[in-house]
Amino acid sequence: MPDTLARFLRDLDAEIRDRQDWGQVADYIPELARIDPAQFGIAVALPGNRIVTAGQAEKRFSIQSVSKVFSLACVLGRIGEQIWTRVGREPSGRRFDSILSLEEDGGRPRNPFINAGALVTTDELVTGRAPKEALAEILAFLRIAAEDEEIHIDRAVARSETETGYRNVALANYLKSFGNLRNAPEITLGTYFHQCAIEMSCVQLARAGRVIAGLSCAPQMLTPLKARRINALMMMCGHYDGSGDFAFRVGLPAKSGVGGGILLVAPGRASVAIWSPGLNGYGNSQMGSYAAERLARETGWSVFG
Ligand code: GLU
Repeated sequence: MPDTLARFLRDLDAEIRDRQDWGQVADYIPELARIDPAQFGIAVALPGNRIVTAGQAEKRFSIQSVSKVFSLACVLGRIGEQIWTRVGREPSGRRFDSILSLEEDGGRPRNPFINAGALVTTDELVTGRAPKEALAEILAFLRIAAEDEEIHIDRAVARSETETGYRNVALANYLKSFGNLRNAPEITLGTYFHQCAIEMSCVQLARAGRVIAGLSCAPQMLTPLKARRINALMMMCGHYDGSGDFAFRVGLPAKSGVGGGILLVAPGRASVAIWSPGLNGYGNSQMGSYAAERLARETGWSVFG
């Protein structure tokens, strides 16, 4: 399997490099707007600590919303099911930064992966302690899961989003007005921007994702029930209003970020990280989504058989 997979990934990388339609980088975060969209990397972590890669699999990128999977894992560890009193678990069917459904739902965000929902989970993590400590918990989770200490926050990206993240500021204030933010908006926002600015390579992210994929070689950090819950949310809500299309084409739980990363989970079989910074109209990696679809078809890993 690893040999066939390595060949497939090499061919896929070569094919993608010849393409012209890389999509657009996220330009609302100035530090991300400077990145060349024509880049691609993929890493597949398999049982038995094997890892197969192609392209720029060692290059670090801003994981952005992929961090929301791990902040949710930390919150589930801290307060368990109580989090669902503050945030729902339904697909939103709207843009990642939409304020509309927040109004309709009385300030309880539809799910923990849209921005409003992630602000609530981060708010929970920072309650009763300093932002530094909440961030240390997310970083520690990632470092232990990936078995790699070299996972850090890109301060320039965090600063860039802090200076221009007007929509997130609006969402945090709106949540506060509904009584669904325990901390001052600037405290929760600062923590959230830094969490999104964590940078990782595909290899590191695929290794961290092993705990969600439930690979036996992964450090045991999540109960099977928690992993199942997180996978269900990734399948339903991991690609914002493009989640249905992604499930239809790929058939695997996944979470995207506007840095162009995708964490893709084949439960019990593999944890995959893909990075290509050009985005499609939903704010999901254009070539990353394409590569995920090709990989799922090649391996037969779709959870729908
Ligand atoms: N930091 C980004 C934002 O809040 C994350 C969005 C994403 O990656 O989808 O806008």
